[in-house]
Amino acid sequence: MSKNILVAVAWPYANSDIHVGNITGSYLPADIFARYQRLAGNRVIMVSGSDAHGTPVTVRAEEVGTTPLEEYQGFHQGFLELFQKLGLTYDLFTSTHTEIHFKVAQAFFQALNKNGYLYTERQKQWYAPMQKRFLPDRYVEGTCYVCGYDNARGDQCDSCGSLLDATQLIDPRSKIDGSTPELRETEHFYLDLGKLQPTIVDFLRQREGYWRPNVLHQSLGQILAKDLHGRAITRDLDWGIPVPADGWEGKCLYVWFEAVIGYLSASIEWAQITGNPDIWQDWWYEPEARGYYFIGKDNIPFHAVIWPGQLTGAGEWFGKIFAGQDGKKFALPYDVPANEFLNLEGQKISGSRNWAVWGLDFLSRYDPDPLRYYLTANMPESKDTDWDWDDFVSRNNNELVATWGNLANRVLSFAYKHWDGVVPDPGELRAADNEILKIVSGGFATVGEHIDQVHLRNGLFEAIRLASEVNKFIDKAAPWFEIKTDKEAAGKSIYTALKAIDSLSIIIAPFLPFTSERLHSYLGYDEPIFGQQTTEEINDELGAHEVLRYLPDEAHGRWAASELEPGRKLRKPEPLFQKLDRSTAEAERARLG
Ligand SMILES: [Zn+2]
Repeated sequence: MSKNILVAVAWPYANSDIHVGNITGSYLPADIFARYQRLAGNRVIMVSGSDAHGTPVTVRAEEVGTTPLEEYQGFHQGFLELFQKLGLTYDLFTSTHTEIHFKVAQAFFQALNKNGYLYTERQKQWYAPMQKRFLPDRYVEGTCYVCGYDNARGDQCDSCGSLLDATQLIDPRSKIDGSTPELRETEHFYLDLGKLQPTIVDFLRQREGYWRPNVLHQSLGQILAKDLHGRAITRDLDWGIPVPADGWEGKCLYVWFEAVIGYLSASIEWAQITGNPDIWQDWWYEPEARGYYFIGKDNIPFHAVIWPGQLTGAGEWFGKIFAGQDGKKFALPYDVPANEFLNLEGQKISGSRNWAVWGLDFLSRYDPDPLRYYLTANMPESKDTDWDWDDFVSRNNNELVATWGNLANRVLSFAYKHWDGVVPDPGELRAADNEILKIVSGGFATVGEHIDQVHLRNGLFEAIRLASEVNKFIDKAAPWFEIKTDKEAAGKSIYTALKAIDSLSIIIAPFLPFTSERLHSYLGYDEPIFGQQTTEEINDELGAHEVLRYLPDEAHGRWAASELEPGRKLRKPEPLFQKLDRSTAEAERARLG
């Protein structure tokens, strides 16, 4: 039976470009998962957008002398370009700076307030006397009071991952001018996480059997070690979503609070764009619907603890306030398969030191599928992994080219040449033919299960193992020699290999969609496996914003074994991948730092 699957992907902050660590951390695994689920016949929406608000964007705008709006729009354009080139099939990639997101986030705030999960409190906050302004958390840096790391941000420590209370930072300094701020009083709304704690703990306990150990450790483990406390959800900041309450002018919803609500507002925006404005409810209210949140490990507390708390707390009031409809309880996240970090040549990736492989820069020299392959083979699913340029070249040449690309190319070229460009009629298949076809068909179950459980590396390795099996079959059958004495036998071997490759092109398609699509076309199909990506401009009260969409209409791929029929007309094949020279790694390393 078809399932409703929400693929919720981390929202990139519109204050820096995207590198390979970001890609393998959340964006690529989400796309592989979504492509597979669509092929398997499930109803998928994959949503995300640019995180336009908050201090990451205003800090950067102040540094480079632009406005936050210009700053966000510039990076947003880059994201749209990269995601198209990389084939990330967002049903909607939008932004948080949209009319619909403002409305949804404000309704969400009011729903939490109605349900009694918000309270106000006067608090101390860092204030810069020189600039006569309060400094939001990200404008303050200092020493982490948990681990002693001396470059912690006000809201979170990048070294130990702890969420921080900015007022407790040791040796605080203003990010604007390095001056020492002073504590002054201001009033803010708080989310009552203490009150939500029993529900959040129940929610996490129900997921103990299948969540990744690190995600459970950073959510349930931390709550059991230390109770949750209220957390401020408003800030003294003018770039963002105004607090929908009288007398709160000049304050905004805190970005951590509103950006996660973006998963919901993007789903609603998608529903509106597709002309079926209430359909988002199938993914948000149906108890059987499954929401998967693809994020990096630095975002675990927000998605595994606070977001389920927000959803529970808003409850039925959201629907009433947002649309005047009888609301329902939200379905809570099914899984948060957060990834660890990818390092680069043994060191932590650092954008500011240019110790990074940037997505768009990489794609100016290489095709997207080798990147997708390497980042999946190296995906930090259970521990930090490393991008190593020599390893990239080896895997490209020994696995992608030698095991998979050459298999497809030599079989297709041979068939095209010796059977007049059509699939040979094999007559009755031999035991060895049936044997290999059975092995490959088995991949739909095994690889499918790996992907469904978000074990993407194992899924890819199993797919490549199956390609090796087909290589063994064809090496043994050796139709290139067989044809000289027995064309009928050679025809059986080639038919079998073509059928196995046809199945493999689907099994591998979620990982390597571009080359699978080409291969699918060489095998004579007129309709593509997947749909198309497109960008579109949406106009609303806040102006215009560009979105990236996936249009599934033309997709006809199915997660099922090939039924390749004899006589089907093939297209002239070309190699799928290129072998890389050994000197590539040296040249690429010279670009770093
Ligand atoms: Zn720390």
